[in-house]
Amino acid sequence: MERINTVTGTCTPDELGRTLVHEHLMVGYPGWQMDALAPGFRRDEAKARAVETMHRLQSHGVKTFLDPCPMDLGRDVELMADVAQASGMRVICTTGAYFEEQGQTYTFRHLPVDDIAAIYEKEIVDGIGETGIRAGLIKIATGAHRVSDYERKLLQAAGRAAVRCDVPLISHTQEGTCGPDQVEILAAEGVPAHRLLVGHSDGIDDPAYHREIVGKGAYIGFDRLGIELILPDDVRVKNIASLVRDGHGRHVCLSHDSVCNWLGRPILGPGVIVDPAQIAQALPNWTPTHLFERVFPKLREAGVPEEAITAMTDENPARWLRGAEAP
Ligand SMILES: [Zn+2]
Repeated sequence: MERINTVTGTCTPDELGRTLVHEHLMVGYPGWQMDALAPGFRRDEAKARAVETMHRLQSHGVKTFLDPCPMDLGRDVELMADVAQASGMRVICTTGAYFEEQGQTYTFRHLPVDDIAAIYEKEIVDGIGETGIRAGLIKIATGAHRVSDYERKLLQAAGRAAVRCDVPLISHTQEGTCGPDQVEILAAEGVPAHRLLVGHSDGIDDPAYHREIVGKGAYIGFDRLGIELILPDDVRVKNIASLVRDGHGRHVCLSHDSVCNWLGRPILGPGVIVDPAQIAQALPNWTPTHLFERVFPKLREAGVPEEAITAMTDENPARWLRGAEAP
């Protein structure tokens, strides 16, 4: 792919530089508008917080911030563009929708698959709404343990749009399951495995699952570093080191799935409703700079060579976004 859409224009793959593949400037779960008990949202404060975060990332050499917020999770591409302009960070957004259990599903449940594919294509080619801001890639998502009919339809639509527009895809998985199903469903639409980054694959401590994904040729996201309520980082580091030792390091991309601003109160699981201010206490390492401050040293301790560590943020994301296979 010669040029990649960002929220402020296009760039070449060579310009991407150090890239975090899965972070969020803002997230709101469907229905966030109904939570009148949530702290009030101020756009100027949200923007200032995001710009400050971008500056901290820039001090660690990050040049590109991929925010794969699906359409139904509070996606706000104008905020992304404002933050990109004010901070100098390159920001990339996506089209696509979330998984059935947590998404906003009524319209897409009823639209035909080819209408959904055409909607994704429109957001990539013409832009999102009237903003003129174009999505750089497609987000897909599946729930835990099985792909629902709704999710399968959206994956098929995503595959068709990805082929027509020649863009890559990034995924959400639940509980470290269904990554291989995602690869297969896209393959049936003509999408080669290496166009997909299977996200949240660090949600399970299962080396065989990780090898199945890279064995098919897909890129693999260890992209929830710092979310230690799901799994301790030491488990993630062990599994990353093992993939590198077995020669699969060029498939791995690292990120945190951090959220800079919340619309409504985060619902982190059944009955787990938190004030955004409490998240820093519950998950002190869940920040977008955690990788550089605490995870890179752990990877060195685990014996991962320096060039393999930097490849996971500096080269692998660009190779995936360019559309090339992992060597
Ligand atoms: Zn995410």
